[in-house]
Amino acid sequence: MNSLGVFCGSSLGVKSKYKEVAEKFGNLLAREGIRLVYGGGSVGIMGILADAALRAGGEVVGVIPRALWNREVGHRGLTELYVVETMHQRKSLMADLSDGFVALPGGIGTMEEIFEVWTWAQLGIHRKPCGLLEVDGFFAPLLAFINHMVAEGFLRPEHRFMLIAEHDSEVLLEGLRSYCPPAIPKWLDEGLN
Ligand code: AMP
Repeated sequence: MNSLGVFCGSSLGVKSKYKEVAEKFGNLLAREGIRLVYGGGSVGIMGILADAALRAGGEVVGVIPRALWNREVGHRGLTELYVVETMHQRKSLMADLSDGFVALPGGIGTMEEIFEVWTWAQLGIHRKPCGLLEVDGFFAPLLAFINHMVAEGFLRPEHRFMLIAEHDSEVLLEGLRSYCPPAIPKWLDEGLN
């Protein structure tokens, strides 16, 4: 895996743990020689993550819509920066530039981004791994809801387990590296039954 797309909060969150884990993860990516692809912001834990990776000598690529860049929330010290016109262009370019995807704690922007790439994986649009880096039980309610979707027959267990959730970042990276997409595709014209 040469590059990883990471989605995470443009806020810091209330616990210092979120910041600490983002810092550690940025360091780990740099150490492993994995290029970070992210939303290009300087704020919140996304900024912390990018700064940590850069400080540790890693490569960081940002993809930011012009409207956000003009509001000066973009990071000015990245290895490479793409300024695009729309949010859709951003997500599509981030997906093309990444060999896998991880979400750290964040808000609705983060959730939307990881759910989109996971949906694309489920549909067989790409074969790249998707994961969540769990911090202090942040994702537990979301994982409970995802399990509820399985129990209620809206999500196949095989597709549920395409989203790898781990609290240890090295274990998560290992899971992403050894990921093998399930053989059961979700055809667009077919439900679960
Ligand atoms: P949220 O989780 O709602 O804070 O949104 C974070 C996600 O939305 C990030 O992964 C970014 O892709 C995008 N985003 C939100 N705010 C910004 C910002 N100020 N600068 C860059 N990207 C942002």
